Amino acid sequence: MDRKKINRKTATEAIRFLDANMLDATPTNYTFAYLYLTGANGWLRKQVDGITDGGVRLHQKDVDDLMDAAPGETGHGAASTLDAQMDEQQAGLRHQMLSFADLTAKALNNTGAFGRELAESAEQASGTRDLASVISAMIEKTAEMERRLAETCRETERLRQDLDAARDDATRDALTNLPNRRAIDRQLKTFADHGMPMAIAFCDIDHFKSINDRFGHAVGDRVLKVVAETLAETMAPHVVGRFGGEEFVVVLPQVDGATAFTLVEKARTAVGERNLRVRDTDEVIGQVTFSAGIALCGNDPEAALREADSLLYEAKSSGRNRTIYKAAA
Ligand code: GH3
Ligand code: MG
Ligand code: MG
Repeated sequence: MDRKKINRKTATEAIRFLDANMLDATPTNYTFAYLYLTGANGWLRKQVDGITDGGVRLHQKDVDDLMDAAPGETGHGAASTLDAQMDEQQAGLRHQMLSFADLTAKALNNTGAFGRELAESAEQASGTRDLASVISAMIEKTAEMERRLAETCRETERLRQDLDAARDDATRDALTNLPNRRAIDRQLKTFADHGMPMAIAFCDIDHFKSINDRFGHAVGDRVLKVVAETLAETMAPHVVGRFGGEEFVVVLPQVDGATAFTLVEKARTAVGERNLRVRDTDEVIGQVTFSAGIALCGNDPEAALREADSLLYEAKSSGRNRTIYKAAA
């Protein structure tokens, strides 16, 4: 097995190890699990084996004590060399999962269409009983496959979230270094609780999947970083967070809708003007654009997010690369 494969395997095992010991997937715990599983620190391994020998699970205090007491490699120095290794592993694993999720989604679409076609054929052939029963058996099989694929899809997403959690502190997105969804939700709630009026912008990169499809997930990641940086720079001092995949949310306290619209349009122009190329091959990626929906928020951030999301949807369906804000009548 090559080194990459071994690393990926260890990353998955580390998550399992943490799960088995009911430990949170924090960066420190992940490093601890990694050091233990790879045997990179013999002292640590021996201590852990001693504690867990009788089937006893590790507690957070054991981990903290051992990480403090371990000689050599587990100090800050070891953490930073491991960081680079972990970055590589994490990216590899994430990309593997993204490809898998893409594939499963595609397969789900295909089997759905296949099932519908079969159902139609069965109806047409209803005079011929044998054929009809063969077809309905096939439809059943297809439905079963669809259920299993959907389950795999959910499992993949769960794993991906576990990994993000392992690499992330509680509030930052590891890839873009922006506040993550949890941090944004929390901030929205705090503002709303204090009666702070604000505008919320929901931005989503257009046809991002095709960038992954054409250039691979590593290039997709870099594009995400560039969009994140550009958004954060143009919207400053307002906070931009990564809400999920290729979705960003901007929180603009004490900003009215028209001003928020002007600011988001400025960011949209700035992103569109970036002339992106693939770093290694100099290939032109082409213009990257995003669509956005803006809503005002009083005391119900969830409702405002929903409204911004539905305006974003409108921006997508009316041609993309645009911002929509609708002032109350
Ligand atoms: P639309 O204009 O309608 O928004 O189309 P889209 O292709 O941008 O949207 P879609 O939801 O079909 O695809 C989003 C893709 O984003 C699918 C997923 O593989 C990819 N993605 C999500 N997170 C990441 C990530 O962290 N890195 C990379 N490279 N891709 C990601
Ligand atoms: Mg998109
Ligand atoms: Mg999206």
